[in-house]
Amino acid sequence: MKPVAALCSAVLCSAALAFAAFSAHAQTGFDVAITVDDLPAHGSVPPGVSRIDVARDYLAALKAHNVPAVYGFVNAVALEREPGSGTALDMWRAAGYPLGNHTYSHMNINSGSLEAFEADLEKGEPAIRDRMKGEDWRYLRFPYLSAGDDAHHAGIIAYLKAHKYKIADVSISFNDWAYTETYARCMAKGDSEAIESMKIQYMQGVKASIARSLMASQKVYGRQISHVLLIHEGAFTALMLPEVLTAFEEEGAHFVTLDQAQSDPAYSAASAHQGEGLLIERTAKEKGIDLWSDAPPDVDISNLDGMCR
Ligand SMILES: [Zn+2]
Repeated sequence: MKPVAALCSAVLCSAALAFAAFSAHAQTGFDVAITVDDLPAHGSVPPGVSRIDVARDYLAALKAHNVPAVYGFVNAVALEREPGSGTALDMWRAAGYPLGNHTYSHMNINSGSLEAFEADLEKGEPAIRDRMKGEDWRYLRFPYLSAGDDAHHAGIIAYLKAHKYKIADVSISFNDWAYTETYARCMAKGDSEAIESMKIQYMQGVKASIARSLMASQKVYGRQISHVLLIHEGAFTALMLPEVLTAFEEEGAHFVTLDQAQSDPAYSAASAHQGEGLLIERTAKEKGIDLWSDAPPDVDISNLDGMCR
């Protein structure tokens, strides 16, 4: 937000100042930690774009906006599927950013036994541990934000506690993953008109999700909690990231670390479904709070799958 008071006299601008006061979140600001999933290889990349290019663009944007200690959550299976993609992880570390675990193969905990999920988690550890050299890497981001149905949940929570893992929760996301394959297809076709329309739709989604999350926090907690944003290390989000970070700043965001954000008591409050879905939605459900009936609508993404076919 622009400093209205600095631009005009108090007499002329009383209306403008009153309006600015309504924009409470921009006035007081809010904390948000940025976290990135599916390192080093989220979805398809357009022709001529490498995982290294995506990592470089990502890191340049995060550094330009002074975003501290951005956790990248790793699926180590990519290191075997795409030899050379480990360089993207090395670049992340060289930038001073930490890595955490997103399981080896991006396994949904509900797709098999608890033991199979634990084995997949452990299989992902060496690639992370070796690069973190004594630093704290025992953070788990559940793939699909799925923390287990009744048959799995209590078991995985006990396992994580015994192995000193923390859960990386999420309070804001804006479906950035849904643009990944569409972007690769549209780039392959050279359909720049489609890509321009995707950019507009994507930023509408970013702004809607900030507004909805800030409103939801106010409704559930009566205050702005420290937020955690989830985005994915894909080529389209890398392209849009400078604009995304600017949009957050314009809404009053102050970038903090994941540890700082999760030191907010909202993250340690008792929950029967710890780690499942989005924090505020989960808490609202458990408290029986209706979040969305009077909220601004989310952006429809159902058109993306049919584009550039
Ligand atoms: Zn993921």
